[in-house]
Amino acid sequence: MPTTTAAAVLTEHGKPLSLQDVPLPDAVEPGAALVRITCTTLCGTDVHLWAGQMTFPGMLPMILGHEMVGEVVEAGPGTTDALGRPIGPGDRIGWSESTCGHCYGCAVLRQPVACANRGYGFMQRADRPPYATGGLVEYCYVTPGAAKLLLPADVKDTWASMSGCAAKTVLRAVDRAGGIRAGSTVVVQGAGALGIFATAVARIAGAGTVITVGGPDDRLAAAVRFGADATVSTDLDKDQRIARIRELAGERGADYVFDLAGAPTVAEEAVAVAAQRGTVVIVGSTGFEPAPVPLGAVMGKELTVVGSLNGDIADYHRSIEFFQTFAGRMPWDELFSEPVGLSQAGACVESMSRLGQIKAVVDPRLP
Ligand SMILES: [Zn+2]
Ligand SMILES: [Zn+2]
Repeated sequence: MPTTTAAAVLTEHGKPLSLQDVPLPDAVEPGAALVRITCTTLCGTDVHLWAGQMTFPGMLPMILGHEMVGEVVEAGPGTTDALGRPIGPGDRIGWSESTCGHCYGCAVLRQPVACANRGYGFMQRADRPPYATGGLVEYCYVTPGAAKLLLPADVKDTWASMSGCAAKTVLRAVDRAGGIRAGSTVVVQGAGALGIFATAVARIAGAGTVITVGGPDDRLAAAVRFGADATVSTDLDKDQRIARIRELAGERGADYVFDLAGAPTVAEEAVAVAAQRGTVVIVGSTGFEPAPVPLGAVMGKELTVVGSLNGDIADYHRSIEFFQTFAGRMPWDELFSEPVGLSQAGACVESMSRLGQIKAVVDPRLP
């Protein structure tokens, strides 16, 4: 069993990631696994963490990456996946952030996303045990509290990685909205990986009209390939955007609005374009800046406003099944850049911060 792993480590916000050897735990505990990563896809949160727009005091050095899959090198005694299937060397698995199982969120609400002790790789200092729980590593330690899933062979590494955050987040948001009624009008705010995936999900779910709002133009063009009937550019100012969306959505407005953008005016725009009795789902507002919500319109339109936070292993499982079922339905691979090695991971994060790549792919086995 390896005793150290190569890792791309964030030591200072906004600075290049540093390639280091990071220790690994001496032994694999019961319920845990040591995995050789075959694919890590980067997410907007990794970019926010890198830039320092999102930060946790005292958490540097940290290892970014929370969408990843790999092959088990060693499993602890009794390690199984979330469905009770034994996990052993050679198995290909994905997993969800760890949860504690005994806090109010876990035990009473029974919602893993509400766990008070949720463990993301980026909540783990790279210089303290178990060190390497983020995705930008060659060997990743998957803790006992992380719900694991054996992966079917027909779901590609990139798809399974993306299921670890982006895809499960969107599927949970649709679930929180109560599903998407066939023939309904859907507005997706955001044209990043989440927005484009949500566009595809809305289309597949049977929406009548899907309107995607975002930028830059190449991402809007991608949204069309993933099922958008129309797009609205964020180059327009807020009032122009609202007017254009209303024009496209028709007199009644949008039955569902999904915020996958998190910009300061998303709530105002969502409420303005939502139909009477429409549903607004807030999924992308990860920042802490206050965003004004026109409460009079929420009342007058009798809107349902729901928050949706990431996803748990159930959403992950559904995401894997979604990719299996709809493998040929959309050009999924267009979302992903060519895989690169750990040494290029920092450049990928920078490129994503400039809205270059939609989803960067790191394969730590590459040089
Ligand atoms: Zn908990
Ligand atoms: Zn994420």
